[in-house]
Amino acid sequence: MIHEVFPVGVLQCNCSVIGDEQTREAMVIDPGDDIDNVLDIVRQHGLTVKQIVITHAHIDHVGGATKLKQATGASILLNQNDYTLLKMLDVQAAWIGMQSPGAVAVDSSIGTGDKVAAGNIVADVLHTPGHTEGSICLYFESDKKLVAGDTLFAGSIGRTDLPGGSYKKIMQSLQGPVLALPDETIVVPGHGPLTTIGEERDSNPFLTR
Ligand SMILES: [Zn+2]
Repeated sequence: MIHEVFPVGVLQCNCSVIGDEQTREAMVIDPGDDIDNVLDIVRQHGLTVKQIVITHAHIDHVGGATKLKQATGASILLNQNDYTLLKMLDVQAAWIGMQSPGAVAVDSSIGTGDKVAAGNIVADVLHTPGHTEGSICLYFESDKKLVAGDTLFAGSIGRTDLPGGSYKKIMQSLQGPVLALPDETIVVPGHGPLTTIGEERDSNPFLTR
């Protein structure tokens, strides 16, 4: 599977372009900003974007979704528990002193039990509330890879002090579906360097206490 991870926007959100080498179909996860860069990477690999997946409705992850949809015609997928947060994009823009990207129209809600596909590449959706009510992770079992949004970072976890955040829920999400994954699973967090489930199980201060 083709997988490019690169930071976008002022908050350096990790955006993923994931493509099927055979069918050249792709999904883009968390196109927060810098959509021209995203489209360059898509073009370099000769991919067609079919799905735009948003791990949660914070502006640094969802801000470029409408522009990417206009360029590709792909569907926007977000868990419905984040629809309220999505309506607050203007407020979120003001928090970080940037211009509002305008409204984002979601095509479908996704949650636990759903699968997102790009060609023959399939990801299982894990609803992992805590950072926000509608936070999700995507697990690519074939490649043992987890795109974790802001639920899990190398050495840390997502903040829970913003609207919709819950420390209790993020710990339940981590100790439930996330840590149930195999140790060798590569974790692509919403910001910062990649890690593995085993590394975080052993050394993440939030998970070892
Ligand atoms: Zn966030």
